[in-house]
Amino acid sequence: MIYLDNAATTKPNQDVLDTFVKVNQSLYFNPNSPHQSGLQAEQLLQQSKQQIKDLFDLKQTFDIIYTSGATESNNIAIKGIAYKKKVFANEIITSVLEHPSVLEVVRSLEAEGFIVKYVNVLDDGRIDLAHLETLMTDNVGLVTCMHVNNIMGQIQPIEDVAKIVHQYPKAHLHVDAVQALGKIPLIFEGVDTLSLSGHKFNGLKGQGVLFVRNIHQLEPIVHGGGQEYGVRSGTVNLPMNIAIVKAIKAAVNQTSILNSQLRSYHDELSQFLINFTGVKINSLQEGAPHILNIGLPGVKGEVLVNAFSKNDIMLSTTSACSSKKASLNEVLLAMNVPVKQIEGSIRISMGSHTTSKDIQEFKDKFKLVYEEVRELLV
Ligand code: PLP
Repeated sequence: MIYLDNAATTKPNQDVLDTFVKVNQSLYFNPNSPHQSGLQAEQLLQQSKQQIKDLFDLKQTFDIIYTSGATESNNIAIKGIAYKKKVFANEIITSVLEHPSVLEVVRSLEAEGFIVKYVNVLDDGRIDLAHLETLMTDNVGLVTCMHVNNIMGQIQPIEDVAKIVHQYPKAHLHVDAVQALGKIPLIFEGVDTLSLSGHKFNGLKGQGVLFVRNIHQLEPIVHGGGQEYGVRSGTVNLPMNIAIVKAIKAAVNQTSILNSQLRSYHDELSQFLINFTGVKINSLQEGAPHILNIGLPGVKGEVLVNAFSKNDIMLSTTSACSSKKASLNEVLLAMNVPVKQIEGSIRISMGSHTTSKDIQEFKDKFKLVYEEVRELLV
């Protein structure tokens, strides 16, 4: 089986799994317990947060909250900020490019009475900064912008977004950096909250991180025992949290090597695919290196995914979360990709376990699938 769906999830690293099991066996204590073992767990918890900050050279500027994944991180950040700022800055700016774990939260806030404004998307898939400038007002409490898009791989200009947002002192910038870690360097400058998800960089499913610049800006959305600065109540999952540090460390340390490795696969695949009449490359050359979105107009993406699957190649139509929905993908629509090209789009996504042999195998199998569908191509 050749796995090319790493934007959906990745294979856990062995040391991440081992750490999870080991800490469960030897340090299963509750960091909130007052006894010596509890204190030991609490100490380890704090050390793990410091380790993450050190990996990103963050010093004391950020607090870290462990979560069950980026959906939870995004919910805690977006709702937490919105509620805190509701009475004096109730406007939220986002774009249709965002993952459902951002967009659906913003939509639910809109139903509660917040004013939501959508920044335009340019044809290259990046948000229109000039339009963002026109949308900013003193009533904007939150701008949320993803780092790397999960469907096309385009990289947003986070530093430029931050400069615009911070001309307005009430505005907070939230960044969903789920698809960025391990593939490109993360940007923290000017960012107020940032989400990560362990299973996207060879960690485990159900583990995530939220970086918070000013913890007092977050209204808790989960109430309980007051763990994690009162922002994310519930007994802390120490084994999970220690394990994600391992995954983050590996991802940070390998970013530069993996970036060039995946870039070379990306280039190799693009050059190979453009030789086939009717095949369109949707992703930009200068996007994140692990995602290559292509279109075969005339054939449905689902048909292609099934054809590849029968040939032991695992890839996706759009994103795992929305691929079961019948509607056209909003990200590709916003980039003005023609409808037939959207309908026939598939996402090839690579990761740290992808090898050149996998790429070769994909190329061989692509020829077979192409022969099956070529008469349908328009
Ligand atoms: N944000 C982006 C960009 C994603 O790609 C995903 C996962 O597909 C998420 C958020 C949600 O992450 P999780 O699965 O950890 O909830």
